[in-house]
Amino acid sequence: MFSFSDIMIVLVGGGLGVFLYKKLFKTKKMKYSIYFLFSLLLFSCNGQQNQKAMTNPKEFTEQQWKEKLTDEEYYILRQKGTERAFTGKYWDVFEDGTYHCAGCGHKLFDSETKFDSHCGWPSFDKAIEGSVIYKEDLSFGMKRVEVLCANCNGHLGHIFDDGPKETTGMRYCINSVSVKLEK
Ligand SMILES: [Zn+2]
Repeated sequence: MFSFSDIMIVLVGGGLGVFLYKKLFKTKKMKYSIYFLFSLLLFSCNGQQNQKAMTNPKEFTEQQWKEKLTDEEYYILRQKGTERAFTGKYWDVFEDGTYHCAGCGHKLFDSETKFDSHCGWPSFDKAIEGSVIYKEDLSFGMKRVEVLCANCNGHLGHIFDDGPKETTGMRYCINSVSVKLEK
């Protein structure tokens, strides 16, 4: 038969077993929770990266640009088209404000730098520091320098050295379609 001490051993042993099992179970649960939290963290980081990629206009696909822009904007900004002279919205506008990129909203030109060049396109003698980039353009048998938005690589127009001598001597010949005046 069982003695008192045998019963005590079974009780204490059983209790200890249950305690250890619970502890182990809890630890496992904690481990799973940590894995879960870690995956959540990774997932959210990935999500943020994806979101960042989606909002970086330099990574837009042609399809995304087509959806975002009007046909005319797409033709000029993405296919390097040129609007006809004296037809654009801004060639003879001299109101105060800032000209932003029509593709991405990036600030490009200050109205103070706009001048009347009589060429039929909005003309500026200076771009906002770091807002544009330049690229050699050999199309149509000419040697020109293309001006692009530094933020989205959208085509804005060309730069020529026949601008006002009293300021920079440069003429940024820009399509009205490529910009939006914000007053
Ligand atoms: Zn842009």
